[in-house]
Amino acid sequence: MMRASINTATLGFQAPIREVIDEVARAGFAGLAPWRREVEGADVRAIAKHIRDAGLTVTGYCRSTYIPAASRAQFLNHVEDNRRAIRDAGILGAACFVMVVGGLPEGSRDLEAARAQVAEATGLLMETAREAGTTIALEPLHPFYAADRSCLNTLKQALDMAEAIEPEARLLGICADVYHIWWDPERTAQIARAGSANRLFAFHLCDWLRETRDPLNDRGMMGDGVIDLGRISGEISAAGFTGLPEVEIFSSLDWWKRPMAETLAICKQRLAPLV
Ligand code: ZN
Repeated sequence: MMRASINTATLGFQAPIREVIDEVARAGFAGLAPWRREVEGADVRAIAKHIRDAGLTVTGYCRSTYIPAASRAQFLNHVEDNRRAIRDAGILGAACFVMVVGGLPEGSRDLEAARAQVAEATGLLMETAREAGTTIALEPLHPFYAADRSCLNTLKQALDMAEAIEPEARLLGICADVYHIWWDPERTAQIARAGSANRLFAFHLCDWLRETRDPLNDRGMMGDGVIDLGRISGEISAAGFTGLPEVEIFSSLDWWKRPMAETLAICKQRLAPLV
């Protein structure tokens, strides 16, 4: 059994979730992280049971509806949408609900207002997470995505926000994804801070290809790019992270075209020195 998890997006959504669960278990991984598109509209309890029966842990549930909105009514719709997803995260037994928070609302240039909306919404969602028996992980995204995907862009920013919303650090933490944090000069210190504050809830692995063709869907397999994954994994372990590292490779140009078993086998080889 490999102490690692597969984010199902890595396999390109080629098959129904039940088949994906079985493939991941057959390949010998200890966990997986499903997406809402695979779960919503289906029997969530039955999927949860299938995952448990396969012997897999759920390292995260991906991901939030973007928060920032141009109107108050729309903002509240987004919060409500996330409440539903957090309840599903609880049913799935997910270690955390992953928040990719969203960028600027249509027509806006006010990044600070978007960030304030994210903080407010996250505060509103804490009670839902508690009732659902799960946690919330704020995932900062590389600043490239500030306009359209996430106005939360560094570990420090995410940790500052988490501290302000929930000082006691029970259910609100962060997700450290190497694709988004590898370049950050404050990374080492902020990973250590997350660990000592008990807020390191998830660790996502892939690689940054030097010649990236598409900054969203051309992520590399571990070892094929420029990220010092050994060093970052060491920082994560030193911070006391006890969860399963999760492979998350968005790769419409390469890995999503390969058979699931092939991608899983290569993930396993590349993870061996890291986990
Ligand atoms: Zn991620």
